[in-house]
Amino acid sequence: MRPCLPPATAVATILALLTLSATHTAAAETAVGAAMSSISSADLRRHVEVLADDMLEGREAGSRGGHAAAHYLGREFQKHRLAGGASPKSYYQTFGAQYRNLLGLLEGSDPQLKRELIVVSAHYDHVGYGNEQNSFGPTGYIHNGADDNASGAAALMELVEAFAQLEPRPARSILFALWDGEEKGLLGSEHWVSHPTWPLAQVRLMINLDMVGRLRQDKIELYGGRTSAGLRRLVSASNAATNLLVDFSWTMREDSDHYSFYKRGIPVLMFHTGLHGDYHRPSDDVEKLNFAGMQRLAQMLFALIRQLADEPRLAPFRRAAQGESASVQQARERPLAPLPGRLGVTWDASDERQGRGLRVVHVATGSAAARAGVRPGDRLVKFAGREIRDGNSFCTWVLAAQNPVSLAVARGGASQPVELPVQLAGQPLRLGISWRGDDAEPGAVILSRVVPHSPAARAGLGINDRVYEVAGQRFANDAEFQQLVANPATDALEMLVERQGRLRAVRLEFAAP
Ligand SMILES: [Zn+2]
Repeated sequence: MRPCLPPATAVATILALLTLSATHTAAAETAVGAAMSSISSADLRRHVEVLADDMLEGREAGSRGGHAAAHYLGREFQKHRLAGGASPKSYYQTFGAQYRNLLGLLEGSDPQLKRELIVVSAHYDHVGYGNEQNSFGPTGYIHNGADDNASGAAALMELVEAFAQLEPRPARSILFALWDGEEKGLLGSEHWVSHPTWPLAQVRLMINLDMVGRLRQDKIELYGGRTSAGLRRLVSASNAATNLLVDFSWTMREDSDHYSFYKRGIPVLMFHTGLHGDYHRPSDDVEKLNFAGMQRLAQMLFALIRQLADEPRLAPFRRAAQGESASVQQARERPLAPLPGRLGVTWDASDERQGRGLRVVHVATGSAAARAGVRPGDRLVKFAGREIRDGNSFCTWVLAAQNPVSLAVARGGASQPVELPVQLAGQPLRLGISWRGDDAEPGAVILSRVVPHSPAARAGLGINDRVYEVAGQRFANDAEFQQLVANPATDALEMLVERQGRLRAVRLEFAAP
């Protein structure tokens, strides 16, 4: 199945619109293209088929199958000439009952930023033959853990291959970590944060891939997107070519390795394609994986990690994230109550476009129209001196009009239309949106209301859409956004908008359609 990718022109437009980082030259971009396309579903399948083979007996930590998996992965690190991450000469950080974390380092190219570290990780162990504590059964059979977590380890390996060939290398250093003992209680990641092979204070962000092999309906679950300001935008920008649907959760999961870092105040991102009926069962096998989906995710991650490793400055850990949850999200993202109509009339939509104005069928009690004396049966023919031809343009005019305004109505028995002065309710709304800011999302506004029939509604904007740019310009805060949208001169406005991690260019038309 070919994923529903946007046409190349749209990707180019979006990337051109994105002024995220201008540091990359054309030559670098070609190298990036080559590295990105080295990420293949064939390679992903090859890695998973090795790790999830019965020979490895479900890769229980400390077992011969677990050690065999570590050996295979260590050889792959070597093939791509990663530096030792455990010590200059070794990938293996051994601990406990013969457990082994695998750590491979790609040193950064910038003299300053190379001291800062991005950790990219996945656990490679699973539950072996399963037992009452760690299996949903039947126990006693090999649990190959193809999705949990051979898929994450395989995706990590493809990222190693891509970054290892990238010239110039990213500015910051990247530690590729394959944790052992995750199924026994996050043992490997806990061991690393208490015995770090890099100053913890220099760890800027940790990415965790756990169960990324079962992409369905393009949807990826992302945890930690609010643990540092600006992460949502970076993730969405990195998704321009892969077009996944990203569910930015405000909940923090405690059941995988990112949690060891989160507890120590390090920003984290955990990627997950969701639970399923084979989770922690012997049936979690290779043939159930979506390798094309894994390739898309790995390519998105490549773009994201490259951005994170090259951004001039990364925001620190955002403590407020510790107090957030799905219920806080729900409350914060609740749409504002719809505004009462500024005029308060309903017309017969089936009668529109007869060139005779709009036939009023209802006047809301106490509304501006009622106060002005509009009656059911009246035909609205002119608004502020302009001939009314259809409901859409009339809505746009009413929304944006300054008070007072005149309304001409054709009324049975009157030879001439009657001019009625009207005092519209509320404030003019040119775009038809209300919005809010969010400290976790600097440089964005989040739509909290979209007025029906408004230019924004006609452009397809929706509640909780993020606006990142107006007319190709970024804005730092609410006031700057207000300025950008307030320019009355234009009869249309381009916006860069994000919904569920997908970016699109949107055009709002103010002139009568
Ligand atoms: Zn797992």
